[in-house]
Amino acid sequence: MIAFGAYLTLIGRIGAHRADAFERLRLGEMIMCARNPIEDLAHLRHEFGEHGGVNMSVEASSTFTVIDPETMPDLFQGRKGPDKGCYLYGRHFNPTVFNLGRQMAALAGTEAAYCTASGMGAISSVILALCDAGDEIVASNAVYGGTFALLNDFLPAKSGIRTRFVDITDTDAVRAAITDRTKLIFTETLSNPTLRLADIPRLAAVARSKEIPLVVDNTFTPLTLRPAALGADIVVHSITKFISGASDVIAGAVCSTEDFIGRLMDLHTGPLMLLGATMDPNVAAAIGLRIPHLPLRIRAHAERALALAVRLDELGLEVCYPGLQGHPDRVLFDELCCEEYGYGGVMTLDTGDEETANRLMSCLQNEMRFGYLAVSLGYFDTLMSCSGSSTSSEMSDENKAAAGISPGLVRISVGYTGTLEQRWTQLLTALKRVGLAPASAAA
Ligand SMILES: *Cc1c(COP(=O)(O)O)cnc(C)c1O
Repeated sequence: MIAFGAYLTLIGRIGAHRADAFERLRLGEMIMCARNPIEDLAHLRHEFGEHGGVNMSVEASSTFTVIDPETMPDLFQGRKGPDKGCYLYGRHFNPTVFNLGRQMAALAGTEAAYCTASGMGAISSVILALCDAGDEIVASNAVYGGTFALLNDFLPAKSGIRTRFVDITDTDAVRAAITDRTKLIFTETLSNPTLRLADIPRLAAVARSKEIPLVVDNTFTPLTLRPAALGADIVVHSITKFISGASDVIAGAVCSTEDFIGRLMDLHTGPLMLLGATMDPNVAAAIGLRIPHLPLRIRAHAERALALAVRLDELGLEVCYPGLQGHPDRVLFDELCCEEYGYGGVMTLDTGDEETANRLMSCLQNEMRFGYLAVSLGYFDTLMSCSGSSTSSEMSDENKAAAGISPGLVRISVGYTGTLEQRWTQLLTALKRVGLAPASAAA
């Protein structure tokens, strides 16, 4: 790696402004055990605005001046960089994006992070950094539809990188799928939309024994689960979902070691540097102002989701939520999670068939005003979609069946607007109207 790439690793590094490794370690530990890790973000250097504003100014510049021409080669050869307040060009780094990267690293509990234009930008960059033509990936068979298409269709066609899909809860199957050409294990913390929990520590042990990295997409469970602390080598996020919380921007992040982030940014071979999935500084500024209330929002989503899931379960409906006693991974979840954040904001309801699912969602949106028939998740209002015909429609019927995605499965990202009782009344009324709950069921 050339020197320029080396100093770029400073981007988003925890403690980029606290030189010694001990400080970084201490910060990492505090994030692990503190009641509210966001409070520890306060230990990062606070960036004030140019005119003393409490918030950092948005650095809306794609290029940066130097006073002396001699500084230019210094920048390219890594003798000067963002740690010395020297910036060069916005696709390489920008102070506002740099700042959000430090926050994301602290949130994920990793040494470094780099913010990307989208979750897919983060995922594809990570894979292309780890794999060359002809290499292999072992991945969960229940991942986000876009990730599935990338692994199943795009990469084999464009680069000969092939993926073996496995039931990620079956550690033996994961181990058996690994060959000499396998370069990484990929999973989501909670599978989409089936909400099975990956046993990150066990998968990390498998990955370590094969000397390959474990890559975890933690989009569904920021704060709730901390894959890096559980052994994951690389954590990716779609910031678009819970971390943004307002469904207004598309954004992502890669969180890992300085060394790995540096590889992504290498001038000659770095996929982030060369494919250009860089975050816009205006987006970085907007997201930076939402990180401080992420814990409040995550708790609000989880409390509401648990309350609704328990009531649906009591009605005898096919509801899946990791916080329910009957969930197959409830015990593991309790072992791995940060309990104060609950069990996440997403649940599913199997309505039996697609037609019933559509009638239910239509009634919930158009008659009850319970939420919106829309893909995505992590919004303050409730979002509902029928996974098989929307976010997982990239998969064949056979692949959907293997992943446990039935045609009537409705994924619900539970919002926190309105009161619980108001929302429950709306939900129960809709369930009665489509015949999923008996007319006699009491609210
Ligand atoms: C939405 C999503 C992605 C893709 O993120 P974008 O920001 O839309 O590119 C990846 N993984 C999961 C689990 C997602 O929900």
